[in-house]
Amino acid sequence: MPPPSRPSPRRQEPPAARRRRPGAGPSPGGRQDPWSLEALVRSLRDRVRSYAASHPDEPPSLWLYREIDSWAADRDDDWKRRRSSRAVLPLAPEPSCRPGCVHCCYQHVAVTPAEARLLADHLARLRPNAEVEVEALLARLSRAAEDCRRLIAEAPDPRASRLALARVRRPCPLLDERLGRCLAYDARPVNCRRENSLDVEVCRRYRDDPDCPDSSLRLVRYDVIWGAAFAFLARWGPALLLLKPGAIEPLDVALSRTMTPGSPIGAEDAGGADHPAEP
Ligand code: SF4
Repeated sequence: MPPPSRPSPRRQEPPAARRRRPGAGPSPGGRQDPWSLEALVRSLRDRVRSYAASHPDEPPSLWLYREIDSWAADRDDDWKRRRSSRAVLPLAPEPSCRPGCVHCCYQHVAVTPAEARLLADHLARLRPNAEVEVEALLARLSRAAEDCRRLIAEAPDPRASRLALARVRRPCPLLDERLGRCLAYDARPVNCRRENSLDVEVCRRYRDDPDCPDSSLRLVRYDVIWGAAFAFLARWGPALLLLKPGAIEPLDVALSRTMTPGSPIGAEDAGGADHPAEP
């Protein structure tokens, strides 16, 4: 689920014909494409390292997503500037996502091990929070974890298990269906932050029908920027978090049993949630 409000709705991708394939490395002229996966991951890594160096006493669980969001917003601004500087390009469509719209919260969400730790830490801090029925939340997490384990155990191979998880349609255990909001919004994973849509009706159909063929609505720029954020967390997150082991709460909530590093859910799905690709 994207941010609840989008004060400046994101614009569309830079010129596709001129954008090199992410991860393609340096251009023939020797300049590295700033939109390559490697360049974006390095840029985010530098940003995070810089913050960590200047705030050594702050646990990453309190600022990491904030820095990632800020980095993503800056990249988004870059993208918009590039697009607006090319008058020949049409104005880009904007996401239809709005607060309270939670169709995208009815599927399996893949997370990196680092994100599972961040989420677990966040949930641990919720324990004294009277607004959240933490025990009920943990029970939902445990049930969802059992469902995932069963699907994975029944699948003959990893590909089949990924396909089975992609067909899951149930409310996320962290979703407050009554209020239409995420109970761990500040710590929601990258795959939730990157979610976007141009047509809410298609999201509704996708939510209701695991075989819905027409859900290819994600904007390219979201995939480029947030795909890099996912890769950053997959590669650097654990090391970063382990820099301050005392700052991370023990994984004593259900997610720790569901998505520990190396588990099928944490590792096999490191390519992201099984959302359809943008056309
Ligand atoms: S973690 Fe939050 S935003 Fe992500 S699917 Fe669950 S309820 Fe929705």
